[in-house]
Amino acid sequence: MAADLSVTFWGVRGSIACASPEYMRYGGNTSCVEVTAGGRRLIFDAGTGIRKLGKRICAADESTETDIYFTHTHVDHIQGLSFFAPLARGEHKVRLSAGHLAPEHTLEQVMHLAMAAPLFPVTMDIFAAKIEFHDFVCGDTLKPAPDITVRTAALNHPNGATGYRVEHAGKSICYITDTEHRPGERDANIVGLCRGADIMIYDSSYTDAEYPAHAGWGHSTWQEGVRIADTADIGTLVLFHHDPTHDDDTMDRIVAEAMATRPGTTPAGLPRIVAAREGLILAP
Ligand SMILES: [Zn+2]
Ligand SMILES: [Zn+2]
Repeated sequence: MAADLSVTFWGVRGSIACASPEYMRYGGNTSCVEVTAGGRRLIFDAGTGIRKLGKRICAADESTETDIYFTHTHVDHIQGLSFFAPLARGEHKVRLSAGHLAPEHTLEQVMHLAMAAPLFPVTMDIFAAKIEFHDFVCGDTLKPAPDITVRTAALNHPNGATGYRVEHAGKSICYITDTEHRPGERDANIVGLCRGADIMIYDSSYTDAEYPAHAGWGHSTWQEGVRIADTADIGTLVLFHHDPTHDDDTMDRIVAEAMATRPGTTPAGLPRIVAAREGLILAP
């Protein structure tokens, strides 16, 4: 039987997909993370990584209901949705949720904008699946099932973004991307949301040395991830949203340096720090 709570990484890259050979080991697809809790699937973000997950869901024909939660609607987090195979299936119901848009926009309006002429050849009406849109407000607590709690908090990102904490059977996984730290202070929203979590996936787009050249772009560093993980008593810190300039060799160097900051394993046997790569599965 599958673990009660687990996370699978389908897309780990930030900003733009990277297709060339020097990105093969960590992966070039943009953000998409699958959390399985008590047999139920929750998908976070629909970057290009969601295409492969959609094929897997249809091949296995294992479910007809899918929940997708968006951190936000920047292109690298929604671009794969039009290629998500369950949307072509009449028997599927796909529920899309976001917390960063209200009250100025709705998710339905924004997704229709993203799939409209002259930016895209077909509209959302092409999908046979039943699509439901759900707007909530950052800070809300969501209950996708009686035994799953999803807590949310606002992140610091241009146009807004939502951080998520999934809780099931006494375990928790947090998904924190895209967000920019304020140098010298820990983000109280993130520390509050993630405190004591078994796993925290964190926007590690840059190194501390690279950050000053990218201040205001809405992203953070792996070193800030370590500082938050230590402050918030996180079990495993997962470096995520790798910058397109960080090819596999660069990632290896970052991982080697990062490993030294949080050596050892958690009581569940997971590393205390790890870089996300496509295909990685973690079960706390
Ligand atoms: Zn992003
Ligand atoms: Zn973004």
